[in-house]
Amino acid sequence: MKKVLITGAAGFLGSHLTDRFLKEGYYVIGMDNFITGDKKNIQHLEENPNFEFIEHDVTKYISIDGDLDYILHFASPASPIDYLKIPIQTLKVGSLGTHNLLGLAKDKKARILIASTSEIYGDPLVHPQTEDYYGNVNTIGPRGVYDESKRFQESITMAYHRFHGVETRIVRIFNTYGPRMRLNDGRVIPAFMGQALRGEDLTIFGDGSQTRSFCYVDDEVDGIYRLLLSDYAYPVNIGNPNEITIKDFAEEIIKLTGTKQKVIYQDLPVNDPMQRQPDISLAKKLLGWEPKVDRAEGMKITYEYFKSLTEEELYKSEHKDFSSYTTK
Ligand code: NAD
Ligand code: UDP
Repeated sequence: MKKVLITGAAGFLGSHLTDRFLKEGYYVIGMDNFITGDKKNIQHLEENPNFEFIEHDVTKYISIDGDLDYILHFASPASPIDYLKIPIQTLKVGSLGTHNLLGLAKDKKARILIASTSEIYGDPLVHPQTEDYYGNVNTIGPRGVYDESKRFQESITMAYHRFHGVETRIVRIFNTYGPRMRLNDGRVIPAFMGQALRGEDLTIFGDGSQTRSFCYVDDEVDGIYRLLLSDYAYPVNIGNPNEITIKDFAEEIIKLTGTKQKVIYQDLPVNDPMQRQPDISLAKKLLGWEPKVDRAEGMKITYEYFKSLTEEELYKSEHKDFSSYTTK
């Protein structure tokens, strides 16, 4: 049985990846410190003999007994309001955390895949974004902590590949959504869904003309799975090219949820990218991958998930309490 370590396993993507690898017959070690994740996302695996969980902060030295075939490094705050509230942890998990995991991969002779992001393109001047675009990032802006942590992560990963011969994979993930997103993490889909379910107006930041391209989680996980098993060491975009403005997206959610509320406009966050759409030609060619779930279908499943949350979860509107997590 092949053994895989998944960091960020209690998070949105990490928990779905864990399910997929278990389904494919792997033994999975999940690792997380719960800073933005939730025990609930992996509760269903408690009795699974092929799953074990280690509560650990990956920015600290990591020790794993026995062999390891694959590592997937998905630990990192991923929502703009999360990484604005915990900027130092965000920088550390992409830098120190990635360094530790690359060291572990080298030691175990394991293949490692790291979760990069469309954010490395910043507010892109090339559209759609191809892997050879270097990006347009403000290093010292509020989003810089995330963007630069991910850019450093790509650099150190390529250095371990070139200098130490470690087998590495880099996925550039574009906005992904689905069940298990944290309702109050501030990302646009949980934000709009929570607002619709609570009977609040939907908050559009800026004039809503900025675009995003949303990928359903099962498609994203399938692309990542294929990339890990491929022999390609350079970055690959995995996302859904179906682009929409945030204003039109809010209207779609109003229709889907049947809410009687309206949209209201608030200030656009600093350096909020104005457009984002993956060019997925490379993924198509290399991995034979393209997304299968259209937005209407994916959003319906996601809405069912948010509807199934308890009243307490729905009205727990305060943002996550990070006070017990050290930055030392
Ligand atoms: P998430 O917040 O749901 O999950 C991240 C998980 O990492 C959480 O469970 C958190 O507790 C854990 N974590 C954070 N710091 C840690 C540390 N120091 N030690 C151990 N665990 C730690 O976010 P997500 O959406 O699932 O994102 C997962 C990964 O995918 C991240 O690396 C993110 O940058 C990347 N990504 C996600 C998206 C997306 O649209 N969801 C887009 C681009 C990139
Ligand atoms: N957004 C919005 N209202 C909200 C939350 C987000 O209009 O309540 C906008 C945000 O400004 C951005 C887009 O939706 O332009 C996607 O935001 P998200 O935080 O989901 O992801 P990212 O900006 O990282 O792509």
